[in-house]
Amino acid sequence: VTGPGAIVVVGAGVAGVIACDQLRVLGYQGRLTLLGAEDALPYERPPLSKDFLQGRVGTPGIALRAAGWYAEQRVELRLGTVAERVVPNEGRVLVSAGPAEPADAVLLATGGRPRRLGVPGGDHPAVTVLRTVADAEALRARLLPGVRVGVVGGGLIGAEVAATAVGLGCAVTLVETSGRPLERVLGRWLADHMHRAHGRHGVRVVRAAVSEVGPDGEGVRLHLTNGQAVACDVVVVGVGIEPSLELATGAGLAVDGGVLVDAGHRSSHPRLFAAGDVARRQGPDGPLPRVEHWDGAVAGGRAAAAGMLGLAPPPPRAPWFWSDRYGVRLEVVGELTGPGRTVLRGDPGSGSFLLLAVRDGRCVGAAAVDRPGEMTAVRRLVDAGVQVGANTLADEAVDLRALARAARRPA
Ligand code: ADP
Repeated sequence: VTGPGAIVVVGAGVAGVIACDQLRVLGYQGRLTLLGAEDALPYERPPLSKDFLQGRVGTPGIALRAAGWYAEQRVELRLGTVAERVVPNEGRVLVSAGPAEPADAVLLATGGRPRRLGVPGGDHPAVTVLRTVADAEALRARLLPGVRVGVVGGGLIGAEVAATAVGLGCAVTLVETSGRPLERVLGRWLADHMHRAHGRHGVRVVRAAVSEVGPDGEGVRLHLTNGQAVACDVVVVGVGIEPSLELATGAGLAVDGGVLVDAGHRSSHPRLFAAGDVARRQGPDGPLPRVEHWDGAVAGGRAAAAGMLGLAPPPPRAPWFWSDRYGVRLEVVGELTGPGRTVLRGDPGSGSFLLLAVRDGRCVGAAAVDRPGEMTAVRRLVDAGVQVGANTLADEAVDLRALARAARRPA
């Protein structure tokens, strides 16, 4: 494989590391540099709100690759190094410390930053966010039995932190503006189902936003829009992220809530690529929604590696993510809302079931609640666009794995 003489990957999260891995898999022999702003060996983020926060796994258990892997793969890993400017026409990346990196191609895998509360007092040190391993270590040290924890936002991060904290014996209050977080993704019924679990497990749920944060001893008092106030020793804000777009805009790239990229993750500049939280793929009818999930970053890293080498990217798969709360895993693939109908497979009363979305005789999305065994098959059905009726999907006598295997056989 030919390709650029030097590639710089900016951002050492999962998209960046997977891209490096895949470049070597695809036979790229040139210089390869991975820049990471954090000091920690590149790590997986999903455990930070789950097993890592519970103390069940430590930093070695979340490393994306073993420490020796980078040298073996001839990946020049520069940690604690911030890329400050990308000058594609000169083939250079300027960094915070040390010499500029030569770059024939650059992958922007810069991720995002947690959104802040943006209310008076919201910058109090007891008001924290959870994005990095340093954030998670600091939070873990504070989640002791009896500690009053305020969680703001009941989306993916907030729900997992609330579940973990209450499991560690903390007194948790979850403040969420919506009565049904994740409704746009899960639909009304499933969003309700998932949100109700908090109350059952002893989390106090308050429907409101935070209007102000006041000091209260070592901790804070959250003043809410419904007039209530909640005293907290520590607050975790999980109200989404903002993609880190500075390098992209500085390089003059086309940006629309994310770096616009094609199927090979090439941006509007032929030498610049983007993947992960920062990237936004073009679809047939305009830009697709930006994907913030782990699996999207893996797929983006792979596609970008192919794109940088001028190879065809693997066909895109339907978005997929998971979330763990109260010992229950939620997995979602494809689109659950939108036109069509949904069917249940299994009894929600049992706590273990699938919800499947059917449109025009095809399964276009599904959610599995505490039912992991069928998800691989369902993802295949969704990706292959297999013709399958709602009644067939609902019938537990039908083996979805067999259906998926049949779908893979050439006709
Ligand atoms: P994250 O990845 O950080 O969990 P999500 O987008 O999944 O982000 O969820 C964010 C949640 O935060 C949404 O359910 C939204 O309704 C809620 N939210 C946003 N702003 C506020 C706010 N100021 N106060 C309380 N909840 C908020």
